[in-house]
Amino acid sequence: MTKWVYLFKEGNADMRNLLGGKGANLAEMTGLGLPIPQGFTVTTEACTNYYECGKKISDEVEAQIFEGLKTLEEMQGKKFGDTEDPLLVSVRSGARVSMPGMMDTILNLGLNDVAVEGFAKKTGNSRFAYDSYRRFIQMFSDVVKEVDKAKFEGALDMMKTAKGAKYDTDLTADDLKELINVFKGIYRDALGEDFPQDPKVQLLEAVKAVFRSWDNPRAIYYRRMNDIPGDWGTAVNVQAMVFGNMGDTSGTGVAFTRNPSTGEKQIYGEYLINAQGEDVVAGVRTPEPITKLKEDLPECYDQFMNIAHTLEDHYRDMQDMEFTIQEGKLYFLQTRNGKRTAQAALRIACELVDEGKISPEEAVSRIDAKSLDQLLHPCFDPNAIKMATEIGSALPASPGAATGKVYFTAEAAKLHNEAGLKVILVRLETSPEDIEGMHASEGILTVRGGMTSHAAVVARGMGTACVSGCGEIDINEEEGYFTLGGKTIKEGDYISIDGSTGKIYLGEIQTIPASISGNFDRIMKWADEIRDLKVRTNADTPADALNAVKFGAEGIGLCRTEHMFFDAERIPKIRRMILSKTKEAREIALNQLIPYQKGDFKALYEVMEGRPVTIRFLDPPLHEFLPTSTEEMVALAKDMNVTVEEIAMAKASLHEFNPMMGHRGCRLAVTYPEIAKMQTRAVMEAAIEVKQEKGYDIVPEIMIPLVGEKKELAFVKKVVVETAERVKAYYESDIEYHIGTMIEIPRAALLADEIAEEAEFFSFGTNDLTQMTFGFSRDDAGKFLNAYYDNKIYESDPFARLDQSGVGQLVEMAAQKGRSTRPDIKLGICGEHGGDPSSVEFCHKAGLNYVSCSPFRVPIARLAAAQAALAYPRDKK
Ligand code: ADP
Ligand code: MG
Ligand code: MG
Repeated sequence: MTKWVYLFKEGNADMRNLLGGKGANLAEMTGLGLPIPQGFTVTTEACTNYYECGKKISDEVEAQIFEGLKTLEEMQGKKFGDTEDPLLVSVRSGARVSMPGMMDTILNLGLNDVAVEGFAKKTGNSRFAYDSYRRFIQMFSDVVKEVDKAKFEGALDMMKTAKGAKYDTDLTADDLKELINVFKGIYRDALGEDFPQDPKVQLLEAVKAVFRSWDNPRAIYYRRMNDIPGDWGTAVNVQAMVFGNMGDTSGTGVAFTRNPSTGEKQIYGEYLINAQGEDVVAGVRTPEPITKLKEDLPECYDQFMNIAHTLEDHYRDMQDMEFTIQEGKLYFLQTRNGKRTAQAALRIACELVDEGKISPEEAVSRIDAKSLDQLLHPCFDPNAIKMATEIGSALPASPGAATGKVYFTAEAAKLHNEAGLKVILVRLETSPEDIEGMHASEGILTVRGGMTSHAAVVARGMGTACVSGCGEIDINEEEGYFTLGGKTIKEGDYISIDGSTGKIYLGEIQTIPASISGNFDRIMKWADEIRDLKVRTNADTPADALNAVKFGAEGIGLCRTEHMFFDAERIPKIRRMILSKTKEAREIALNQLIPYQKGDFKALYEVMEGRPVTIRFLDPPLHEFLPTSTEEMVALAKDMNVTVEEIAMAKASLHEFNPMMGHRGCRLAVTYPEIAKMQTRAVMEAAIEVKQEKGYDIVPEIMIPLVGEKKELAFVKKVVVETAERVKAYYESDIEYHIGTMIEIPRAALLADEIAEEAEFFSFGTNDLTQMTFGFSRDDAGKFLNAYYDNKIYESDPFARLDQSGVGQLVEMAAQKGRSTRPDIKLGICGEHGGDPSSVEFCHKAGLNYVSCSPFRVPIARLAAAQAALAYPRDKK
C-alpha cells in the first residue's frame, strides 16, 4: 500500500520531492531536536492522486490522514473537536520549491461554536480564543470557499471604528464574539449554508483547498515564470497550532540569517508581539526589528539566535525562518534557504567559501543564473539625482532604480506596460493576485509592509525595484491620485524610486547602467574554470561588442549585417541596389556600400582584438529596406530619378504572402550573387587590414543563413571562395577563413551530414528553427499562446525556453550528423535561447562548443554553462 502520509518524525530534508520543501524541513528540524510543533505531511503524490481521481481525495488517502491525526492527538494529549481542550491545527501547503504566497495557509482549524468555549476556559483567555476563531472563519472562508476576504476585513474595520479601537488587538472578547456572528452571517449569505462545525469536515475541505490551489492562476503564472513543471503537485502539512496572539509574552516573526538584500552576515528579521501568522508579512502593523526582541524577551532572543546559527550551519546556507513565541516559549515553524537579491547571493556564496563552509563549485552551483540580470539593472545618474526633488522615503526593499508613470492597480500597470509605458505600481500593499502587474512594472511602491512583506519578497525575486512601508502616502484610488511630502501625484504622472536607498522622487530621472562588484568577478572566474561551453555574444555594433567583452564574451557568435544598412546615409544605397534593374546597376550600387560595410567590420574586428567573429550574410527579405511612407517614397524617386509609380510597382513586386518563408537568407545570394560578393569583399578586406595594422590573429567566419540543401550552400560558398581568394591575392595575404551555415530550417537538420560536407561550422538559429518546427511565427504567436498556457497545452514560451523534446531533437540530430561527416565541425547556438539557463544546459548536454547570446546575458550564460558542467560532467578526453 502506498504511504500517503508521513509524521514529521518519519521524514527528513532529502525527502523534498515527496514531502515538499516545507514538510521536508519541518521533518529535518524535528530530527535535529528543535522545538517544532508536531504534525504530519500529506505527500505531493497524494496531490497528484487527487487530480487523477478527478479532484477527489481517495478513501485510502483519507484513511491515512485520519490515522495521522490520531497519532498527533496522542502526541499532543488533546482531541480534535474536543469541547474542553481541543487540538487545533494549521493546514499549510508546501511544494518542492518554495512558491511564496502562492498557496494559502489556514490556521486554528478545529474550532467551532462549542470548542471555542472550551478553548477559552482552558486557556483562561477568552479574548484570545475568540480572536483565534474569527481568524479561522476568515481564512477558511477565503481560502477554502473563496468568499471575498474584503467582506471580512470591512466588517473588522467597522467593528474597530464602532468600538473606537486603533488596532485589532484593542478589541475585547465580547467585541470579537459579536464579530464572529457577523462573520458567520457573511459566510451564510455568500454560500447559503452554515459555517461547518465538524472539524473533520473542516480538515478535509482544507486539504482539498490546498490541492486545488496548486492549479490557481497565480500558481500557474508563477510556475511559468520560474520553469516549474505543472505535474509536481504540492504537499500539505497538518501541524499542531502554537499561538503568538496570547498576550505580551507571545509573538510571531520572520528572520533571515543574513541580510537578504545585501548579503551582510547579520541576523535580520522582524516580529510582532501578540500577533498570529501572516500579520508580519501582510503588513497589518509595522513590525519591530529582531534586535528589539533582546529587550522584550531576552531568553527567547538568545535561544532564537542559537537555533538560527545551528540551522545555517546545518544547511550551510542562508536561512529564511518563521517562528512563533507562545507565552515565552519559542517554536520554529519553518526554515528554508532564503530568497535573496543577486547581489546578496554573490556575497553570501563568496563569504561561505571564505568561511570554509562550501567549495567554489558549490558557490557557483548555488547562484540562480537568471538573477544575475538584476545586477545589470540601472541606477540613477548621480548628476540627475542632485537636481531631483525628494518627496519621501521608506524601506529599501528591493534594489535598483526605477522611473515611470504611476498606476494604482495591477491591471492598470499591466495594461499601460503593454502599451509601451514604463510603470511604477503604487499600492497600499500587494498580494499574490497582483503578480502580473508587479512583473509589468519598473518599480513598486507600497504604503504598508516591512522588508519581508509580499511586495518586498516578490520584487526581490523578480529583480524589480521596490520601496515599501511608506506610511506617509495617502492614496485616493477612486479619484486616481496620492499625496506625499506635500505633493499630489496623479495617475499617469512620473515618479522615480530607488529600491537601494528607499528614496522617492518627483518626476522622471535619468538612469545609468549598474556597476558590478568584486564578488561577481570571483564567482565568474570560478565559473569560467568549470565550464566547457564557450560563451559568445550576438552583437552588430562595436559598442555592443565592447559591452559584451566587458561581461566576458569570448567572441561574436552572430553579427547581423542587415542592421548596418538602416543608417540614414546608407539606406538610400541599399534601396538603389534593390531597385536596380540590371546586374551592372546592382553592382554599382553595391560597390558604394563596400566602404561602409568594410568600415563596420574593421571596427568590430578592432574591438574584438582577435576573438572569433561570425558574420552572417544578408538575411531579411528585401522589401524590409523599402520606404513605407509616401514622403520617403517621393524622396527615393527623386534620388533615383524614377517615378513614384515605378517605386510602388517595385514594392508590389517584392510583396510576399509569407515573408518569413519568402525570398530571404541564402536565397538572396542565389538570385543575386553580387550581394554575397560585396559582403565577402568587405569581410576579407577588413580582416586582412586589421590583421596587418594591429597584428591580431583574425580568422574570418562567414555564415550563410537559411540553408536547407547542400547544393544551395555549395553554390553560395563558391561565390564566397572565389571572391575571398581574389582579395587574398590582391593583398598578398595568406589569411585563413571559415565558411559555415546556420541550421534554422528543419530540412537542414535532417540533412546535416550532407551539409557538413560543405560547412565548416554550424550555428543553430533556434529562433527560426523554432518558428519553422512549430509552424508559427514569433511575431504572431503572442496572440494565441496565452490560450495554450491557460489550457496547459504548452507550459512555457518556446521562443524563450528551447523546446527540448521537439526542436531539441533536431539540434541533437544535426550535431550528431554533422560530426559524422566532419568530426571537427564547430557547433554553436545563436538564437535567443543562448542566454536562457535551461537551454544552455541543453546545449552543454548536446555537446555544442559554444552558446551566443545578447551582451547583457553573457554572465548568465557563463554561469549557466558552469552549472551545467557541474551537473553533467562531459568525459574529458
Ligand atoms: P507560507 O508558505 O505562505 O509562508 P506558511 O504555511 O508558512 O505559509 O504559514 C504562514 C504563517 O502561518 C507562518 O509563518 C506562521 O506564522 C503561521 N503558522 C503556520 N502554521 C502554524 C502553526 N502550527 N502554529 C502557529 N502558527 C502557524
Ligand atoms: Mg511560511
Ligand atoms: Mg534566421
